Amino acid sequence: MANLSLRHICKIYPARGGAKKSLFNFKKKKAQTEVRVGDFTAVKDFNMEIEDGEFIVFVGPSGCGKSTTLRMIAGLEDISAGEMYIDGKLVNNVDAKDRDIAMVFQSYALYPHMTSYENISFGLKMRKIPDVRRDKEGNPVLDKDGNEIKIMRHYTKAEIDEKVQWAAGILGIKELLHSKPSDMSGGQRQRIALGRAMVRGPKVFLLDEPLSNLDAKLRTQMRSEIVKLHKALKTTFIYVTHDQVEAMTMGSRIVVMKDGFIKQIDTPTNLFDYPENKFVAGFIGTPQMNFFRVEITKKAKTLYAKFTNGETLKLSLDKMRPVLGEYLDGNPHEVYLGVRGEHVCVGESGVSASVNVTEILGSDMHVFFEIEGQEGDFIACLNCRLPLATGDRLHISFSEENVHLFDAESEKSILGRKE
Ligand code: ATP
Repeated sequence: MANLSLRHICKIYPARGGAKKSLFNFKKKKAQTEVRVGDFTAVKDFNMEIEDGEFIVFVGPSGCGKSTTLRMIAGLEDISAGEMYIDGKLVNNVDAKDRDIAMVFQSYALYPHMTSYENISFGLKMRKIPDVRRDKEGNPVLDKDGNEIKIMRHYTKAEIDEKVQWAAGILGIKELLHSKPSDMSGGQRQRIALGRAMVRGPKVFLLDEPLSNLDAKLRTQMRSEIVKLHKALKTTFIYVTHDQVEAMTMGSRIVVMKDGFIKQIDTPTNLFDYPENKFVAGFIGTPQMNFFRVEITKKAKTLYAKFTNGETLKLSLDKMRPVLGEYLDGNPHEVYLGVRGEHVCVGESGVSASVNVTEILGSDMHVFFEIEGQEGDFIACLNCRLPLATGDRLHISFSEENVHLFDAESEKSILGRKE
C-alpha cells in the first residue's frame, strides 16, 4: 500500500548520438525542460498526487506518453526532470527492484518452460527477506548483549506454497497451477502474470495494457476481475490503456493524456459530464461528441448561437451550466458547441441540416447529418425510428442542460460545473 507524488515529471529522450545527461535537479523544485535539437520530450510537466489504494488509469491515444510515465514510476526509465515520491520518499534514483512495485505487461512475459506454479513462485525463490536467526526449536538466537541477530533469508517452501495458493485462490486458477503457458488461453496466462505480481505483495501494481491481447469477450470479463482484485487487495493500482471504455469502467480516477501533457484528471463521471477541454470531450464517450463551430452572443438571459449557415439557436442561460463572465459581455465570441449524439433532438424547429446516412439499431436509430458551412459529419442517436433517408432535410436542436462550450482558440471549456 502506498501513495505516490509525481511533481513536474518530464521525460526527454535524447537525440540519437546526443550525449546522455541527467536533467534531474534535486535542489530545484521546478521542472527543467532543457531540450536540445533532436531531443524528444515524451512526458511534459506531469503533476499528480495518488492516494493509497486508488485505482488510477492513464488513458490517451498512442504515443501520448502513458507507458513512459508508468515505466518511470516502475524505475525502468530514468526521470529527466522533476521529482517522484513513493510514501514520501524520493525515488528518482532508487532501482526498480528496490521500489516494491510489481508490473504486469500486455505480453505476460511468462517463462514458457515453467508451470504456472513455477512462474508464480519464481520471483519469490530468488528473493531474500529480513528475519531473525532462529534455533532448531524456532526461538530467536540472541547475541552476547541479548539482542536478536538479524539475517536475510530465502522464503521457505511452505511460505512460498501459502502465497501461491492464496493468489491462485483469488484468481481462480488453482486447477492451472501445473499447466504450462502453451496449454493455456490468453486470459489464463494473464491471470498467471497477475498471480506472479500478487505474491510479491507490492506496494503498487502497475498494469500496462494487460488485456490488449485478449478477445473482446474475455477482455470484458478480465476487466471486472481486475477491479475485483483491486477491491480484494486494497493496493494502489495504476493501469495504462488507450481504450476509453476500459478507463471509464475501471478507474476511480482517470488521467487523460495527449502529446505528453495531462489534459484532465478526474473521476469517470466528471470526465463525461464536465470535460475541461475539447480533447477530453471528444475522447471520452461513444460515439464521439459533436462539435459545431458557432458564434455566441449574450442578450438578456439568452445566449444566441449563430451557426455557419447563418441560422441561430437560442439557449436559455438559466438552464445552462454557468458560462464564464468574459463570454457574456454582449460581444460575439467564437466557440465550439459540443453536444453528445443522444442529446441532439430532431424535429420541426432548430438549425436546418441534411441527412447523410441512417443506421437502424433495433429500436434505436443513428442519423448522420451535415450542416452547411460546418466541417464533417454529425450524429444524432435517437431512441426511436424515424422515416428518414439520405438527402432528407431535418432540423436539429439541443436541450441547454446538455450543451458544452469550448473556446475556439484555446479549446478550453468556458462552462462551470453545476451547483
Ligand atoms: P502506446 O499506447 O502506443 O504505447 P504511449 O502513450 O504508451 O503509446 P509511450 O510508449 O509512452 O506512448 O511513448 C511516448 C512517445 O515517446 C512516443 O512518441 C514514442 O515514440 C516515444 N518514445 C518511447 N520510447 C522511446 C525511446 N526509447 N526513444 C525515443 N523515443 C521514445
